[in-house]
Amino acid sequence: MIRILFANIIRILENGMIHSPYTGILIPVGSSNDSIIGTSHLFEHLLLSNFNNSGQFGFTTEDYIAIIVKHCEYLYLLDLIRKMRISNKEIRKEKNKIMLEIEEKRKSISEIFFKIIWADTIYQNSPLGCAHSINAIQRLDLIKKKEQILKLPIYTNNKQKEIAYNIKESVARGALFTVLFKRSLSINKREYGVIYFLNDLDYLILATEILKIANPNKHIQISIKKKLCAIIIQWGSVFPEYRNMNAFMTKAIQKMNIEINKMNENVFKRILFSLESFYYYELA
Ligand SMILES: [Zn+2]
Repeated sequence: MIRILFANIIRILENGMIHSPYTGILIPVGSSNDSIIGTSHLFEHLLLSNFNNSGQFGFTTEDYIAIIVKHCEYLYLLDLIRKMRISNKEIRKEKNKIMLEIEEKRKSISEIFFKIIWADTIYQNSPLGCAHSINAIQRLDLIKKKEQILKLPIYTNNKQKEIAYNIKESVARGALFTVLFKRSLSINKREYGVIYFLNDLDYLILATEILKIANPNKHIQISIKKKLCAIIIQWGSVFPEYRNMNAFMTKAIQKMNIEINKMNENVFKRILFSLESFYYYELA
């Protein structure tokens, strides 16, 4: 079953590689690697402003910086990062933009929800940074960030061959759930059990789907990060009985296939999903 699921993901990756006039770029630094929270985010803004073509956007998560631009060769990209402008004037300008973003996000329901879910872990800080930390970032911090990035693998959807080669290895890899810890949380007057795993994403995503189908009236959600994964389960949810598991699994896979097909219609989502998969499965 899982292999079928994984084969589907690979199929999207391959489609994503071939038919797109856009280049997705994933740089494996995010707020969980920041010594001053928000440095990766500010770096993303500066890098984006160094691209002169239109139709581009970017964002920063706890694990990575993602940028989508019109077609851009890998070597050109590396050169652009190497030579990018990091001037005090640009830094001031982008800091101002980030302050507005922070102000906007502060009231967002999902921002508040996930702040509680990830509290006391390496993912507890918002990747945006906060007003205090953004103010503290100096030009030198950004130059250091750039040097760090140039030593890391940068994931783009232009590097097809290497990826096809690596997929085999990852299929051969076995699956293991490793529960790190569990806790009970009360959020918005609802009680939740949250289980934190070391990743084996295929299985965890599938398990979440099965739980959702078994508990249509409960809030069940998965939050995926590179080094940890949280399954959020509202109290009162039930696990299906083992003898019914196959039927639930079939339904869950059908549901996920529908989601995957929907995603295929959106080129940006497809590129981002494929880059994220490469990074999370360490395929590149
Ligand atoms: Zn931003």
